[in-house]
Amino acid sequence: MSGPSAPPPADAGTGAVLELADMLDLVGMPRPKEQLDRFPHELSGGMRQRAVIASALICEPKVLIADEPTTALDVTTQSQILDLFDRLRQTLGMAMLLVTHDMGVVAGHTDRVFVMYAGRGVETGSTADVFERPRHRYTAALLASILRMDTRRKAPLYAIGGRPPDLTATLRGCPFAPRCPAVTAECAETDPPPARHGEHQWHCFHPAGQEQAAPETEEVPR
Ligand code: SF4
Repeated sequence: MSGPSAPPPADAGTGAVLELADMLDLVGMPRPKEQLDRFPHELSGGMRQRAVIASALICEPKVLIADEPTTALDVTTQSQILDLFDRLRQTLGMAMLLVTHDMGVVAGHTDRVFVMYAGRGVETGSTADVFERPRHRYTAALLASILRMDTRRKAPLYAIGGRPPDLTATLRGCPFAPRCPAVTAECAETDPPPARHGEHQWHCFHPAGQEQAAPETEEVPR
């Protein structure tokens, strides 16, 4: 069986092709004009990611939604792509929504964070507030699961016990209740109401950090 035939060469003189090459150049693609005549399988993972970002930017969006943009990339390429996002955000003046499970990406490249569990928003606030003082028990557990530079050698790694809920079933009360170390009867029966401190907002009956002197919080009217 013969392989795929080469794509028809891009007409390097047309405005659309020049615009594409400029966009590839903007996202840091090496030799952008040459890449226009290549198949995706001829590009590295990082180059493919840059090509996808360029195709998303060609319409000059006001908001770019990047869903797990660094999954399957090696660490060096991940860092290059995230630096690229930061640069593009400033150069093009556009907002960016990153969807990710990588808390390192969140910490280093976002201003605000919205934590979701079982399809519900459970906590939101500035990235600094949420990382310094997580209030929902799921957020706290996520952060506790991250290996830190100051983790003691041979210390057991923390993992969230149990399994995520079955989303085809009707969920009652707090969806994190079956896995939460602070669960009480009311958690399993009632949806936790929102509470907030400034712009930091969460839904939890027994917020993490309340053992310490926590700032005064107010209930948010429903
Ligand atoms: S509402 Fe209850 S079960 Fe849910 S996270 Fe808070 S303490 Fe845990």
